Amino acid sequence: MRIDIITLFPEMCEAVMSESVIGRARKKGAIEVNCHQLRDFAFDKHKRVDDTTYGGGMGMLMMAEPIALCFENICAQTGTKPHFIYMSPKGRTLTQARLRELAECENITILCGHYEGVDQRLIDEYIDEEISIGDYVLTGGELPALVLADSVSRLVPGVLSDDLCFSDESHFDGLLEYPQYTKPAVWRGREVPQVLLSGHHANIEKWRREKSLEETFFRRPDMLESAELSQKDKEFISRLESLCQQS
Ligand code: SAM
Repeated sequence: MRIDIITLFPEMCEAVMSESVIGRARKKGAIEVNCHQLRDFAFDKHKRVDDTTYGGGMGMLMMAEPIALCFENICAQTGTKPHFIYMSPKGRTLTQARLRELAECENITILCGHYEGVDQRLIDEYIDEEISIGDYVLTGGELPALVLADSVSRLVPGVLSDDLCFSDESHFDGLLEYPQYTKPAVWRGREVPQVLLSGHHANIEKWRREKSLEETFFRRPDMLESAELSQKDKEFISRLESLCQQS
């Protein structure tokens, strides 16, 4: 996958995307990330990319033309029209299910807004999808873009050491993850559950599934409505419900 980020702060994006798992994945060629300075596509000598809004108002708005030129440059480089995403608080909230679909794309371009946002005509002309990272407003689209770039990258084959690293995690199958423990077996008097020390794989799998159902039942019961549940899972949840009613 190739990810292009259009931003006023390419150094900020580059710094985050060069560290840890994603940085290593870029080095070994599992993903390609390019951060583009929007000002390079400004057409006046002051490198302006924003202007006042028609109709009045305090804030500035990012102009359509520099963004269009930058995107057209990316299209020319890739030889295709990448899926073009604008990070926006007005977009659909990002979910793991949408990330799984996006991970199938060969080319994604992410636009980071700033100030009051972006001229609507650019959105109407070029943007395929608006994505929000939650119902709150940040000063700029860089952090949202990095959230998207990081979370989609780790689903691309070869980025993590093993596909199990992401398929065994919260939200992948519509449930929250079970609790996990590392050494020592006893920490400040708190013991690791015995079953995890038993080496009995079937019992460990059963314990993990039940704990995963339990975590979801108590923290995010809304998720259980759309999760894929076996008959055994449903029976376990019924037992949890009866226990709750009794207490
Ligand atoms: N005037 C815009 C509105 O009311 O919808 C908010 C603009 S915000 C101050 C500046 C930029 O930050 C946006 O263009 C967007 O790129 C980014 N941004 C802010 N909050 C976001 C969120 N929750 N999700 C995704 N992007 C966000």
